[in-house]
Amino acid sequence: MFRIVRCNDPFFSARHAEGRIDWSSGDAGDFFDHLVETIRSGEPVALPYAEHFFTDDLKALRLLEAIFVSTAPVTFFCRELTLPAVLMRYAVIENEAEDYRAFDPAIAALPFSADAKAVITENIHGFPYLRIEELLTAVAAMPEAAAVEYLLDNKRNLLSRNPVLEVMKVGGGIGDIGGLAELKQWIVERRSNFSDKARDFGIPMPKGMLMLGVQGCGKSLTSKTIANIWNFPLVRLDFVNLFRQGSSVEELIKEAVTVAEAFAPIVLWIDEIEKALFQDDQSAEIRRVLGWLMTWMQEKSRPVFLVATANNVEVLPPELLRKGRFDEIFFIDLPAADEREEILRIHLERRHRDPKKYDLAKLAAAAEHFSGAEMEQIVVDGLVADYAKGRELTQKTLEEVLRRTVPLAVTYEEQIKKLRMWSRGRARNASGNIRVESLFNGQP
Ligand code: ATP
Repeated sequence: MFRIVRCNDPFFSARHAEGRIDWSSGDAGDFFDHLVETIRSGEPVALPYAEHFFTDDLKALRLLEAIFVSTAPVTFFCRELTLPAVLMRYAVIENEAEDYRAFDPAIAALPFSADAKAVITENIHGFPYLRIEELLTAVAAMPEAAAVEYLLDNKRNLLSRNPVLEVMKVGGGIGDIGGLAELKQWIVERRSNFSDKARDFGIPMPKGMLMLGVQGCGKSLTSKTIANIWNFPLVRLDFVNLFRQGSSVEELIKEAVTVAEAFAPIVLWIDEIEKALFQDDQSAEIRRVLGWLMTWMQEKSRPVFLVATANNVEVLPPELLRKGRFDEIFFIDLPAADEREEILRIHLERRHRDPKKYDLAKLAAAAEHFSGAEMEQIVVDGLVADYAKGRELTQKTLEEVLRRTVPLAVTYEEQIKKLRMWSRGRARNASGNIRVESLFNGQP
């Protein structure tokens, strides 16, 4: 019987099949003669990566003649079904389902916590099986945190071969995001929803989320942090750049999504999704691609979590915002007073200052209408000012810097109001029940 088997790792599958033929024997011509002779003599043959072997149909025909006289099994293991049509015509074509459970015992034997083992189980997806064996051997000798990082690093390296996916390595956790309590709780709760156990419990696979909001209030920060909190790799899909690659955008995006699926679980981030829609000349194509992406998001079964952000809702196509497309649409407003306090604390601590030495409530009250990015800048500007004076950062300097800074919200008052109006009833407030003080003379 002649079989062509599409599989995860042709070397691995051939090694476990009867009659493994060794590629390393002789040069290409000798190897072909050796292969034909082995088949003709009635010995079983298992050939890995057979798709790289056939340069012309003549070879395929010679081989078929040998296969016809043999009674032993001949199996070609491939990654891609790109073999000559004549071979495909006579073969039984099989798809070997990817099954990573074979590695469960090796993972269970690792000297790590259950959580770390769960992360490793999730993250071996996408690697060739032989590589997984090597990786598991390597991580067994490492401390737990280093082992998880090593695996994720290897995954990032493989992913970075795709031209349109930008693999990002970011630090930070939930404690680096100030305010946005509702959004943070939502993220933490979703962590366990990617598992088979969650499916058995009746929870659908998380699809993705859209964050809309005021500039500089933490959309990008949250997008990057999600992947870290979940221990998934983060890849950014640069929508605008896709159109500069010269090939079909649809093809590029489909290929990127295929790669992302192979390596799932993964967070796929599209920043400022509306920016692409401003490319007038290609907007029809962008809409089509977005449509395809939305359909894919509905139908996908692999844990690829799409995080999209937008500053301007007016240009977003309604189909993108329809209920059920994303798991949730969050609106991120300017931070409320207690959120501003938290953001100040985070940025002071990041710069090794003790927040207890400052009257944060007073600073936060004075920073009405400031975004998170602007709060950070206040701390940086304060440091620069006091460093120039040769002294430690003081409350007085921070207050002065605040006084002379005009927040962007003042210039973008109308846009922010529009965004707020739009989000009512359409999006969930990322800050939750915190009452955001009304902007601009008591107007909503
Ligand atoms: P844009 O729409 O301009 O891209 P954004 O909403 O994505 O803005 P970020 O890029 O996340 O805003 O914010 C810029 C920086 O400001 C962050 O890297 C972070 O240092 C700081 N920042 C913003 N919001 C917060 C927050 N809620 N908590 C802590 N830091 C924040």
